Amino acid sequence: MLLQIILTVYMSLSAAHIPQKDHQNPFYENYKKYHQQAISNRRFKHGDLAPLLQEMKGIEGVTVQKIGESVQGRDISMVSMGTGKTSVLLWSQMHGDEATATMALMDIFNFFSASDALNPYRKIMLDKLTIHFIPMLNPDGAQAFKRRNAMDIDLNRDALRLQAPEAQLLKRVRDSLKADFGFNLHDQNTRYTVGKTNKPATISFLAPAYDEQKSVHEGRENAMQVIADLNNTLQRIIPNQVAKYDDEYEPRAFGDNMQKWGTSTILIESGGYHNDPEKQYIRKINFVAILQGLLSIATQSYKNFNTDQYFSIPDNRTYLFDLLVRNAQVAVEGKQYMLDLGINRREQDDEGSRAFSYVSTLEDIGDLSVFYGYQEIDARGMTALPGKVYASVFKNFEALEKADLHAILAAGHTTVQLAQMPAEEYINKLPVNIVKAGTEKAHPVQLYGRPNFILQENNKVHYAIVNGFIYNVRTRENQIINALD
Ligand SMILES: [Zn+2]
Repeated sequence: MLLQIILTVYMSLSAAHIPQKDHQNPFYENYKKYHQQAISNRRFKHGDLAPLLQEMKGIEGVTVQKIGESVQGRDISMVSMGTGKTSVLLWSQMHGDEATATMALMDIFNFFSASDALNPYRKIMLDKLTIHFIPMLNPDGAQAFKRRNAMDIDLNRDALRLQAPEAQLLKRVRDSLKADFGFNLHDQNTRYTVGKTNKPATISFLAPAYDEQKSVHEGRENAMQVIADLNNTLQRIIPNQVAKYDDEYEPRAFGDNMQKWGTSTILIESGGYHNDPEKQYIRKINFVAILQGLLSIATQSYKNFNTDQYFSIPDNRTYLFDLLVRNAQVAVEGKQYMLDLGINRREQDDEGSRAFSYVSTLEDIGDLSVFYGYQEIDARGMTALPGKVYASVFKNFEALEKADLHAILAAGHTTVQLAQMPAEEYINKLPVNIVKAGTEKAHPVQLYGRPNFILQENNKVHYAIVNGFIYNVRTRENQIINALD
């Protein structure tokens, strides 16, 4: 009987007539068709999602229901579909500034709304599973693009005390569904690496522990097996860019408690990927991982995997800087030393708007030879010197825009003075820092300082590092997204 079921499932999938090479994945290959174009960067708001959820209401077999409200009164909705015996609950963005999976869920809604050559996959998922999605569990946090909710508490530390309305409703929904499987969807530090390698942990998985001993009961084992299956799929798409999240037991977290309450819980953390600051490629990887996870549960293909395969996934480590300058000569107290400079860029939100700028910090200095950078400069033979403040004063920003900024940078300056500063909310996209005349700011090359320096050789400037971004003086390539103001 069981063999019969497996054969039927296998045949219904192989009958799909989907052109598929060995390394290809049907969800990956067909992603473009389902991409929700209304959402194109991470700082979308509750108001952007609402109409998309509304559209789902018209689709046969789909229910969209309000399940509660956030602290500030924003509706939190659940989208449900499928008629299967196995229930799966997915929730995203319990941390307001972790938006990647919510974008992928919008694409997944489009996937389930479509009818095409992938119908055999939809059919088996909807026949075997009842799927409940809660996109954007923390809409108030998303509004301010911050981790915490409007009470300024971390919802993922409120699974026991259940003070926040958002936490209460997640618990209530889990208990009412008695969900068999759960997907806890987050974003992690983009500088996490796969072990000690230079590869970013683009996706990290975890089957959270439910006790200090990190015991493995059947529910947790199932989650580990699903993860092993997903790792197998993702290795063909993003080889060596999958890691395992820290499995320390956190008694207040939802993932850990869901596991304890009997829901096999799979944590998916979206990390970084080269040249993907808005995480649109990682969103696609999420789309694949979530659908593949649902398929794995629906077909029970996860049972072909074991916990050893889960444990063999490398751990998350932090071996990446945004920019690593290697082997620079740096003067300290009049003497030269060879030092590596590790620089990270942090997003700073412009409150009340969707704009953000970067502020960079020199976060480590010394022998950083075991680390890597998303960007690296080998400065062997070059000296790092603080960027100078340009002596002449520009009347205003408009006057500065007309100036020969290349010449200013090539002469070793990273900051210019303005008689009249631009409006407060302005983000300086020019490749030089601006200060009000007379308030000139020097930026010594020092730990935790702002990285504004030049790299020169034989008195010739090769690079200007402005707010932690690179301006290549020799090629005039400008990679400065924003300077300081
Ligand atoms: Zn998170």
